[in-house]
Amino acid sequence: MEVKSSDRYWNPVLETLPREKLRSLQFKKFKRIVEWGYNNSKMYRRLYDQAGFQPDDLQSWDDVAKVPTLQKEDYRTAQAKEPWPYGESLCVPLEKVTEYHQTSGTTGQPVYQPDTWEDWEWWNECWAYILWAQGFRNTDRVFIPFGYNVFIAYWAGHYACEKVGCEVVPGGVLNTEERLLKMKEIRATAFMATPTYVLGMADSCRELLKMDPRELNIKRILCAGEPGASVPATKRRMEEAWGAEVYDHVGATEIGGWAYECTSRPGGVHVNEAFFLVELVDLENGRLIEEPERPGKIIITAFDRHAQPCIRFDSKDVGMWGEPCGCGRTFRVLKGGVQGRVDHITKVKGVLFSPVSVEEVVRSISELGDEYELVLTKKGDMDVATLKVELVPGSGADRTIVLQELSRLLRLKTGLSYHIEFHEHGTLPRYLVKASRFKDLRK
Ligand SMILES: [Zn+2]
Repeated sequence: MEVKSSDRYWNPVLETLPREKLRSLQFKKFKRIVEWGYNNSKMYRRLYDQAGFQPDDLQSWDDVAKVPTLQKEDYRTAQAKEPWPYGESLCVPLEKVTEYHQTSGTTGQPVYQPDTWEDWEWWNECWAYILWAQGFRNTDRVFIPFGYNVFIAYWAGHYACEKVGCEVVPGGVLNTEERLLKMKEIRATAFMATPTYVLGMADSCRELLKMDPRELNIKRILCAGEPGASVPATKRRMEEAWGAEVYDHVGATEIGGWAYECTSRPGGVHVNEAFFLVELVDLENGRLIEEPERPGKIIITAFDRHAQPCIRFDSKDVGMWGEPCGCGRTFRVLKGGVQGRVDHITKVKGVLFSPVSVEEVVRSISELGDEYELVLTKKGDMDVATLKVELVPGSGADRTIVLQELSRLLRLKTGLSYHIEFHEHGTLPRYLVKASRFKDLRK
């Protein structure tokens, strides 16, 4: 199958391509971007030369694993060189760069992300797949309650709304109350936000405007930034609060918007396999995982992004394959979306532990508020897991009964016991962008 430039653009035919054709397209695109990176970036050339790999070595799928993986740190090292600020990861002349974004830098020096105009159109294409699969159409008026800035969040969502024909309303420099009032005034039908903010806005609507969020008649909500919309109990909370359908998507600055839930809700997200190669590798032995239900680290390649390519990038995210979806898309499904970060999957009291399982339990108890915090510490040689929660005011809940139920469910789900603290409602930190409710302070 020939790779044509038109394959880069939003074309629902690609979503239903038979698997063999899709795999053949993927291999050609993979080879093309590996050659591009090697020929145009000192970063990739050095990485591959050091590993003794040449793009010509890439003859079949078996050779893909020979391509060295790229770490976030590699971008940082390459970007310390000229030309500022993209350095040796840049594959095009600076004059071709039209978009600047950066990562948050919460784990170190930010990674700078250049895009050419063609790259940027591709980003918006990625998002057009997301929106279309979730039922966004030209009858939607989409509100974006977020202050767009140097981070990539919602910029592509905004442009992709236009691309699929939605009317899009930017809700930048407004506080939460003003945003809610604006949504009411313009009769928005949809909005996009992190799960934390979706829940926070519902609280504010009830507390500040004395209004049930359902009265805003929002039909669909697209979540980003955190895995919450794929955690069943959190999704249920959001859907009940707003009376709307809530959908997940996965994306990252260095990668692109690479996975999305569809209206058939397969219990996970489709990987956009026309634009990305997702490999799952075993956390212990590095073996490629093809079978469902086995967690692995996500290694990801963006086929069509050229200014700063993303080739076999070690995302540090964990996922597992699920069953095929009934919607007709042949793109594979990651069950439960992204399951968490590799560095958050840790051993507590000798038991393998993932923080997302605690979220599932907390959010399944209706007497508990949306916020919680989980802290791991050490007392002597012993691991101590402290869970801070809030009771919903006026729920009339008996603290002792809630405590018993919470302890029982946590033990069942995670095999661990916790020190549980009840905090005054509204006192645990609220997060606007990426929530950091999990803190491992043992090191
Ligand atoms: Zn589907």
